[in-house]
Amino acid sequence: MTERLYLSDSMLAAFDATVVSCEPHGNGYLIELDRSAFFPNKGGQPCDTGTIGGAAVSDVNEDGERLLHFADRAIPVGTKVRGAIDFARRFDIMQQHTGEHLLSYCAWHLYGAQNVGFHCALTYATLDLDKPVGHDGITEIENLANRLAAENAAVTATIYETEEALKGIPLRKHAEGLTVPIRIVTIEGSDACTCCAPHVKRTGEIGQLKIVEAIPYKGGTRCTFLCGMRALSHAQTMQDAVTAIALRFSTSRDQAEAAVQKQADELSETKKALRQAYAALDEYLAKSLKAEAEDVNGVKLIVKMLESVDAKRLRAIAGATMTDRALSVLFSDTGDRVSYLLASNGIKADTGVLIAAVNAAFAGNGGGRGTLAQGSAKKTAGAAETVEVLRTYFRNVLLHG
Ligand SMILES: [Zn+2]
Repeated sequence: MTERLYLSDSMLAAFDATVVSCEPHGNGYLIELDRSAFFPNKGGQPCDTGTIGGAAVSDVNEDGERLLHFADRAIPVGTKVRGAIDFARRFDIMQQHTGEHLLSYCAWHLYGAQNVGFHCALTYATLDLDKPVGHDGITEIENLANRLAAENAAVTATIYETEEALKGIPLRKHAEGLTVPIRIVTIEGSDACTCCAPHVKRTGEIGQLKIVEAIPYKGGTRCTFLCGMRALSHAQTMQDAVTAIALRFSTSRDQAEAAVQKQADELSETKKALRQAYAALDEYLAKSLKAEAEDVNGVKLIVKMLESVDAKRLRAIAGATMTDRALSVLFSDTGDRVSYLLASNGIKADTGVLIAAVNAAFAGNGGGRGTLAQGSAKKTAGAAETVEVLRTYFRNVLLHG
């Protein structure tokens, strides 16, 4: 059994202990001490890291009553060692964890929402509430939590040895299956709940509490939140991002959203105008292609290379060139690629078959069936000549069937 020093003093960063066991494990050793301030991976949060007698400890886990410290070197059993935890990491996690207590209390106090899940990672933490809480509710929870943090209330942990002693304590949450002795963590003037982890001593040490995302989750709400320096760092990142956007629009930060909206509206209008201009241009293009169509055996044949026309426009142009008996083979040079489309009406040949000649000539991929087929290829030198070769081919197809 390892005496858990963090239960009575969460601020204890260094301690003396004796090595009880040391066993090889993976690429290191599992060291057990008679007493330890290291908090293990537990309750949805990561363990402490640090050193034991000069050995680096990168992982700590419970094994029943024992704490096993994963260290990078062996220490003989019986050695008296000095243990030291990475206190910056511990304090950051305590801020998030105590912040979780405060946010959970506020959600429960304001909306009767229970905390049903907590996860603390090294860069963010999540808190799951069992009820949907909307945007305004989240703001209210944040506001109250920050007010209570500013009150700098004492956070204390007390161990109750009997169920009798527990009666009368207004617990927000009694972890299921827990039996006495039970550790109750109380925030003076507000919260009380069962908990086994280390906390900051006063709510002011949590710093700012910020819920940065709240999404529907299993019928309730999953809140991603940041406390202390994490909240500050997030605010700095967001400020830099909004400043960059504001600079791009030559406006102030508080006008940035309006500037983005204005540009989005203008873009939408521009796209609409462009679509109308293309429609007029394509109608004109189709008309001029029809005028220069070659009559082969009573079929209007068009074979033409166009510039920078996308697949959708190519289809519209080809469609507009159709007559009672027609075959239009249109190409579009889009810079590094050539796209092509075959449209037909009133002819025997299937465009899905005819496109094989285009695929072969351009080393491209394409297919289709009946009166419409399309494909594309990497653009290579001599595309114009290839189009002329294909014109002769299709002329012969129409002549000789
Ligand atoms: Zn706790």
